[in-house]
Amino acid sequence: MKSILVLGGAGYIGSTTVYELIAAGKHVVVADNLQTGFREAVHPDATFYEGDIRTPGFLDSIFEKEDIEGVIHFAASSQVGESMKDPLKYYNNNLCGTEVLLESMVKHNIDKIVFSSTAATYGEPENIPILETDSTKPTNCYGETKLSMEKMMYWTSIAHNLRYVALRYFNACGAHSSGKIGEAHNPETHLIPLILQVPNGKREYISIFGNDYDTKDGTCIRDYIHVTDLAQAHILAMDYLSRGGESNTFNLGNGVGFTVKEVIETARKVTAHPIPAKEEARRAGDPSTLIASSAKAKEVLGWNPQLDNLETIIESAWNWHKNHPNGYAN
Ligand code: UDP
Repeated sequence: MKSILVLGGAGYIGSTTVYELIAAGKHVVVADNLQTGFREAVHPDATFYEGDIRTPGFLDSIFEKEDIEGVIHFAASSQVGESMKDPLKYYNNNLCGTEVLLESMVKHNIDKIVFSSTAATYGEPENIPILETDSTKPTNCYGETKLSMEKMMYWTSIAHNLRYVALRYFNACGAHSSGKIGEAHNPETHLIPLILQVPNGKREYISIFGNDYDTKDGTCIRDYIHVTDLAQAHILAMDYLSRGGESNTFNLGNGVGFTVKEVIETARKVTAHPIPAKEEARRAGDPSTLIASSAKAKEVLGWNPQLDNLETIIESAWNWHKNHPNGYAN
């Protein structure tokens, strides 16, 4: 049986995808440099290679040893704030890494790749909900490098025997139902894990970044999508390419937006903790509203998100964080 190679399979979305691939009966090979991922997050039934995709020969040796049918690529830097302070790190990891990967894929005749893109490729949206055909003007370097990754795939697919699916995630959240893996970033910058640090006794209050946006309660609106639903989309995208589907780009979100205050209120309900909040200045580069149209993923891939209720999403995140207050350290 051929295997799927998951690059970055020790990270949050990558490890969840590996769990779902293995549950679907696939053979999985994981490669990760463990800079932001965790060895403990790698499914015990996956074959694991520790290494960096930019290291000359590392991917070549995997393609030579393993019988790989396609690649799912999560191995990238993904923090907006960091990308503004250290843009060259993002160009190096996200673009140089992808260039080395595509060269190795072409050399070994591996013709299918599914990879993480982001809603940050759009920048300030021109329509709500956002369609894949809307203009892409990233407002941060992270989004810029992901858009450039999409374009690198595009031109490679024109020249070589290779097809790709770019998945533009909205706000990934929640944790896998196994309870074994979940979100663990250092430093943490995302809203839901930061909120849950309060009932976990790790933080006194949650900061609300901006209360003067043009939204119903003045706080930013985001489209929160469960990580297991994202994982399923990767499996469907690989199946689509295996059926001969052409290169394509899809938004992945629930199509429903929640304000920061609504997310905090839901977390109070789920955790039965008062979770104090402080209204603070806006965070640079935050668009006021990001909501996906995922009609295309539903129609073309047959994607059908199951965990689309904010309370269910936060319950699953809380189940992970309360049992792993220090992430994988305990
Ligand atoms: N946010 C916030 N307080 C925090 C972290 C985030 O108010 O401590 C807001 C942030 O400004 C944005 C939303 O929560 O409007 C989601 O932010 P996150 O970093 O989780 O995801 P992003 O939308 O940046 O991908």
